[in-house]
Amino acid sequence: MINSLRGFRDLLPPESDLFARIEAAAREVFGLYGYQELRIPTIEKKELFVKSTGDTTDIVEKEMYAFTDGGGREVAVRPEGTPGMVRAFIEHNLGQTGRNAKFFYVGNMFRAERPQAGRYREFTQIDAEYIGNPSPAADAETISMLLALLNKLGVEGCSVELNSLGCGDCRKNYREILLGYLRGRAERLCEPCRGRIERNPLRALDCKIDGPWLAGEAPKLQLCPDCAAHFADTQRLLGAAGVPYNVNLNLVRGLDYYSRTVFEVRSTLLGSQDAVAGGGRYDDLVKSMGGPAAPAIGWGMGVDRLAMLLKDKPAPDNAPKTFVIAASKEAGDRAFALMTALRAAGISSDFSNFTASMRSQMRSADKSGATFALIIGEDELKAGTAAIKPLKAPGDQTPVPFADAPAQIKKLLQG
Ligand code: ATP
Ligand code: MG
Repeated sequence: MINSLRGFRDLLPPESDLFARIEAAAREVFGLYGYQELRIPTIEKKELFVKSTGDTTDIVEKEMYAFTDGGGREVAVRPEGTPGMVRAFIEHNLGQTGRNAKFFYVGNMFRAERPQAGRYREFTQIDAEYIGNPSPAADAETISMLLALLNKLGVEGCSVELNSLGCGDCRKNYREILLGYLRGRAERLCEPCRGRIERNPLRALDCKIDGPWLAGEAPKLQLCPDCAAHFADTQRLLGAAGVPYNVNLNLVRGLDYYSRTVFEVRSTLLGSQDAVAGGGRYDDLVKSMGGPAAPAIGWGMGVDRLAMLLKDKPAPDNAPKTFVIAASKEAGDRAFALMTALRAAGISSDFSNFTASMRSQMRSADKSGATFALIIGEDELKAGTAAIKPLKAPGDQTPVPFADAPAQIKKLLQG
């Protein structure tokens, strides 16, 4: 027996169905906001992630599945989607289509983290990116779209944490101030932070170990007038859209490319892995990756965590509507044709084994959760009919000609 790898899991029904429902709801919401789908590769050049996500981030430094392939190429399995989306945007000139460059994708991500509840090594993200709009309205729109999706799914107990990381200039000043502060407290920092503060002092704020005490004590970033205005406008528009949020000056997010607006949606119902979604503006990333100057904003949502929040909600009934039973091989041929006709009419249908006893087929029908059994016994076969038998309510068998069965069942299901 070969088991699955630690941190990698099988998604079984009904959870797999929940994933599909979340995805379907997302597609609907994306349609309302003008988003189109991009499907990007699972494996990219390693340097794509090193350059965009950032070489001092936890994701790249500790969590990425990177390896040299048989041809000696340095590749990585995607730990997040934004770098691939940005690469695709540049590679295919997606800013030139005449439409807003609003793209979403649904896909699995890979991070070699310590597995625990809500944290897996392979997980699913739904991701939205809006490239080319510097306006605060784009910030407010993406955040309110995320909330619209959560509301549509009936997710409760979520809050939006909001902050601004300012532009490159704001951060340049802050970097010096923070570095001076951290150097003076190097002995209190964890080992990885001590190693990376010279290269990127802001990373310490996002560290799972040092972040919490630094949030209380470290100096805060001061926004330049332009960034302060952008942040104020974003908040005003969120207010206009009726989106509740908390300004959280300690929110920095774990990726290097963010600028200005960053946000996270958290749930009080999730325990320690409480982030359902996170995102932010990345105004300089596209240009720094060799593309045009294209300010952008996006978010990624963790479908696995969302599914944890929704798992106790009533699921739609996905049992077959009909279960077809036959008394003999010959009747089975008719039954098989009947199932085909039912499905073609949009009525879900299933069967067990037409050569098994009627009793055993009846038991399978009951277990399937079907609403009606359609029985073709010897008499029915001779008469060219099927007997409709209600399984979930008392009722007699009523014969119906083969050709009329789909229409008749449809009527019964509606009534
Ligand atoms: P966390 O702080 O929980 O590690 P993150 O900041 O690393 O989250 P992002 O890179 O922003 O996460 O990814 C967006 C979303 O993807 C998260 O909010 C979370 O819902 C989900 N996510 C991230 N890592 C995992 C994982 N290992 N397993 C399951 N879901 C995850
Ligand atoms: Mg993480």
